[in-house]
Amino acid sequence: MYYILNERYALRGWQKLPFALVDRSRGRATFLRKPDMELFQVYLDYIPQYYEDGMPLSLQLGGFFSASPSRPKAWNIPLKKSWCQDPSRECVCGHARMVMYISAEGRALPCMSLSGMPIQENYPLITELGLKQCITDSSYMRLIETRGSEVLAHNPECRDCEHARYCLGGCRASALETTPDDIMGRDMAACAILKGGWSEKISKVMETITLPEEK
Ligand code: SF4
Ligand code: SF4
Repeated sequence: MYYILNERYALRGWQKLPFALVDRSRGRATFLRKPDMELFQVYLDYIPQYYEDGMPLSLQLGGFFSASPSRPKAWNIPLKKSWCQDPSRECVCGHARMVMYISAEGRALPCMSLSGMPIQENYPLITELGLKQCITDSSYMRLIETRGSEVLAHNPECRDCEHARYCLGGCRASALETTPDDIMGRDMAACAILKGGWSEKISKVMETITLPEEK
């Protein structure tokens, strides 16, 4: 299944896998994490089309929008988390508290997104350090233990931001797109979505859509 979004991008899906963003000039899936207003608008315009087509597959438009036909009412904006009561208790890579990602070369990382980035070399090879030390005392564990409050304190723009409790400075992999040497940097894609009013625009579009019943 293939949807052309604009001259550069398309969405491609395979059976139960979510649609992935494809860079048509390179012909392969891509992960776009930098803020791109043109693409955000293309994403926004595509959302009603997805429902008109009957939600043929799960949809994940980066951190912009996500929905699944198995739970139509549970659509969300991945980069807008639920309100965080206490950022000092919330881990920034919460998903990695449950699942460790091991790269093809055996490196312990919070998720696949970091595996193509130079900064991955700061994280241990399990084959060298051993799994036990890796999950008790390592740079990997320090990252996994990092709380939202540390990221917010690290970024002056985040400290008093009205969106901070929904954002916690955003995704670490996404932040590395604009601050490649600083894994504690601010996620500019999250910033653009939350501060640029895209979250409200998505909610408005969703108000116009009649969601199907859960299957
Ligand atoms: S880098 Fe981003 S996607 Fe990966 S585990 Fe951390 S927050 Fe999640
Ligand atoms: S919206 Fe931007 S400034 Fe506000 S907390 Fe998120 S990353 Fe920081």
